[in-house]
Amino acid sequence: MSTVAGSFPGGLVLNGHKKRSTETPIRKTPLSKKLILPLQQHIGAESIPIVSVGDKVLKGQKIAKADGHVSVYLHAPSSGTISAIDEQPIPHPSGLSALCITIETDGLDTWIEHHPIADYTQLSEHDIRQHVREAGIVGLGGAGFPSFIKLNPGVHHHVETLIINGVECEPYITCDDMLMRERADGILDGIEIINFALRVKHCVIAIEDNKPKAISTMELALAARPELIDTTIMAVPTRYPAGSEKQLIQVVTGKQVPSHGLPIDIGIVCHNVGTAYAIGRAIKHGEPLISRIVTVTGTDVKHAGNFETLFGTPMHELLAFCETTREPNAPFILGGPMMGYNLSGDNLPVTKTANCILVGVDAAAPAEKPLPCIRCGECATACPASLLPQQLYWYARDKDLEKTRQYNLFDCIECGCCSYVCPSKIPLVHYFRFAKTETMNQQLEAAKSDQARIRHENRLARQELEQQEKEERQRQRKLALAASQAAKQKQEQAAQSPSDGSES
Ligand code: SF4
Ligand code: SF4
Repeated sequence: MSTVAGSFPGGLVLNGHKKRSTETPIRKTPLSKKLILPLQQHIGAESIPIVSVGDKVLKGQKIAKADGHVSVYLHAPSSGTISAIDEQPIPHPSGLSALCITIETDGLDTWIEHHPIADYTQLSEHDIRQHVREAGIVGLGGAGFPSFIKLNPGVHHHVETLIINGVECEPYITCDDMLMRERADGILDGIEIINFALRVKHCVIAIEDNKPKAISTMELALAARPELIDTTIMAVPTRYPAGSEKQLIQVVTGKQVPSHGLPIDIGIVCHNVGTAYAIGRAIKHGEPLISRIVTVTGTDVKHAGNFETLFGTPMHELLAFCETTREPNAPFILGGPMMGYNLSGDNLPVTKTANCILVGVDAAAPAEKPLPCIRCGECATACPASLLPQQLYWYARDKDLEKTRQYNLFDCIECGCCSYVCPSKIPLVHYFRFAKTETMNQQLEAAKSDQARIRHENRLARQELEQQEKEERQRQRKLALAASQAAKQKQEQAAQSPSDGSES
């Protein structure tokens, strides 16, 4: 076991509330009659449908293809018939709808033919990335970033350290903990492949020290894999948000990712344990990503636990399976109490990033009427990104976006520590999310108006060129006319001139 190399500022020691959902093994959520699959379940461009209404599909079959560079494929989680491709409510705080493919399942759950790769070391790095992309794999820690991109360090970087994130620091969430306890070998399969694809020198599997069973299971599994000689396990002190990428890098390596920089800039790549497991299944078993483990817990859940759930399963069916006392359409939290968000509605589907559903738990962000800021500085002390939340709050409230940028708003990881400790119950993170959205909208508008200006300037330049060409053509025509008139005149003059007598 390796030892921690550093620490991060601030953070909070929170009550984990993890016991209830780890008392039973992972269970399978029953197959739903209807699976609703949003085309956008990842960061980047939404996938494009490659099926039509009425088509029969098999479990694991591609139903939408990646569009552009930052995008992945989408697969049918079970066999059945495509019954709709239309707008459906999606699990997003905006409450908006988005384009989804709906499958009426046939109950047979018939798989496509699997194509496992017996020896992945025969593949090029590019081919491994392509397999991962076509398997629809995205970061399963909650971010949903297409994983194949993080398997490409680019020609100017090399990967010194791969960090496999098994920290799972947010209260209540235990899906990664249970995955490590029950499927350690599958995770190591994925780590082996990532190590190979990135030519990693050293890999650290980081796990919070409040998960002793996961640590011992992973240690045992690792000891049986001599090929993973450069992979070690590190027990990370339990402190929220140790699982956040930049904070984890500080703890594991003692290095700091520069502001506006990426981990790869300092030779580090991070993948979640669930993502590593999915990569192992895709390459070694030929299975695309069609399900995930979801923690369902909270005071209103009778059978709290972790549930392997097919994407597209309506959340209310999963909640019914766990026997909640929730009333139809009553709100619940998707994610943890610190970074999750309130949702309501019964037909919202489980997606690739849905790691936890909480029922009967209040979000940590203050809901009651906030009091004025008393400048106590508690928020700055708790901030793991060394920001000044109080200052950011003033500027965000005044919509002074330039100042929020100067105060490194985009280094805020929205962990909620500042809101949690604020004695005035100011929902600071809400202001920061708002300021980020406004800034991004402004940048989008600026980019749009830049494009419009460039288009306008190009049009003027084209019109000017056309005018110049037209004038040149007119000039050439005039010259040609003048030349032909001169020649004609010369001919006429020659015809009229008196004979020089040479004919006599
Ligand atoms: S914790 Fe709250 S009251 Fe204290 S300085 Fe920060 S914003 Fe103001
Ligand atoms: S939400 Fe942002 S500002 Fe607040 S503590 Fe976390 S990183 Fe710091």
